[in-house]
Amino acid sequence: MFDKTLAELAAGLRNGDFTSTELTTAWLERIKAEDSKYNSYITVTEEEALAQAKAADEAIAAGTAGPFTGLPIAHKDLFCTQGVRTSCASKMLDNFISPYDGTMVAKFKQAGAVMLGKTNMDEFAMGGSNESSYYGPARNPWDTDRVPGGSSGGSGAAVAARLAPAATGSDTGGSIRQPAALCGITGLKPTYGRVSRYGMVAFASSLDQIGPMAHTAEDCAMMLNVMAGFDPMDSTSVDREVPDYTATLNEPLAGLKIGLPAEYFTDTLDAKVAEQVRNAVAEFEKMGATVKEVSLPRTELSIPAYYIIAPAEASSNLSRFDGVRYGYRCEDPKDLEDMYKRSRGEGFGEEVKRRIMVGTYALCAGYYDAYYNKAQQIRRLIQQDFAKVLEEVDVIMAPTTPHPAFKIGEKSNDPVSMYMEDIYTLSLNLAGLPGMSVPCGQVDGLPVGLQIIGNHFAEAKLLNVAHQYQQATDWHKQAPAGI
Ligand code: GLN
Repeated sequence: MFDKTLAELAAGLRNGDFTSTELTTAWLERIKAEDSKYNSYITVTEEEALAQAKAADEAIAAGTAGPFTGLPIAHKDLFCTQGVRTSCASKMLDNFISPYDGTMVAKFKQAGAVMLGKTNMDEFAMGGSNESSYYGPARNPWDTDRVPGGSSGGSGAAVAARLAPAATGSDTGGSIRQPAALCGITGLKPTYGRVSRYGMVAFASSLDQIGPMAHTAEDCAMMLNVMAGFDPMDSTSVDREVPDYTATLNEPLAGLKIGLPAEYFTDTLDAKVAEQVRNAVAEFEKMGATVKEVSLPRTELSIPAYYIIAPAEASSNLSRFDGVRYGYRCEDPKDLEDMYKRSRGEGFGEEVKRRIMVGTYALCAGYYDAYYNKAQQIRRLIQQDFAKVLEEVDVIMAPTTPHPAFKIGEKSNDPVSMYMEDIYTLSLNLAGLPGMSVPCGQVDGLPVGLQIIGNHFAEAKLLNVAHQYQQATDWHKQAPAGI
């Protein structure tokens, strides 16, 4: 049962092979027995899950069930869930019980999904390794001495360890695609504006996007069907029709034009990872796709541009955590100023403070033009580079990360080397483009991700391309040893 995809579990529920209550109970027991090895959950919502499963079984019996009714999933712990702690993996929100559901969470509830719990992550989604979590790092099920990636590392680890059949994540600079790659699962970062962020704790509002993480492209399509769509509560959400993402998964790929960006295949990229990615591309040629080299000349600049823009927006978004309305408040404040200072000083972790300081500095009157404005100009050039390439090709293929999962602690004292791991993912967020990561091989027993990038709102195409690859290969079916 634990190896089944959402699509298979949905079929089992429809056929009466098992009930949602049986499914949910089995998963909850597995989490209890196994998660101490991975630390992939911050909160397990047993009571809520069993109540939702019961309601789902009633809907199935009454014939009112939809495609998602009764399917268990986990949510990253930065999505507000009514009555359930939403910690963002921070001491600042350790005591925060959300009074409402975010839009994406509400949509899954309405669709009849069962929430197993809330997954571990980097504090406030700032990181690429899950090491900045207040609750300790989540661990990679392929090698528990290694990171699962971040910031949605708990979601990646939970799905890879079969502690949830699927999970949600958020991606500001790679946080869905990078843990998907390092944990050997499939993840999709949709186009900016495709999924409402209402009720997601904001990191960098011009970059944040919510998306699915699962074993297959088909499962991601099922999830995106639930998640996508206009929401008046998020002013950046786009009012545009939502196609049935499962309907076009089987379109043939003959004639598909693939671009390989020269700047992604340089010395920065581990040679063994490059080989796996090239093998995957060859698989598409067998299906009738054509491949050509393309150029994204500002790839390197995406790191400095992102690491100005994201902290700048974060410094502004995080000013709301002041110890006054909700979240952590220091003991016995002397006066208002002391309360602000100590609540923030004690409530935020090191990486979050680093970003607030960098961001505040970049936004200072005297430095604004030199840093923030310059970064925004580079961002526009990066967008233009993608637009030009995507006139010539249907999709761009690339590695998701330069290396497989690194050791816990290996980069934690060197933030810049950690930021360098984001080189292939950041630019999509700067350009607002959708991207997927699909398991495409292994290096020394660790999974490698193929990144598939498309034009704005090309999610159906990306899912189609990824699904066809998963029909021809079985990298997505591999499980870590002993799981
Ligand atoms: N690793 C990147 C960062 O630390 C991306 C994080 C994210 O996408 N939330 O900012």
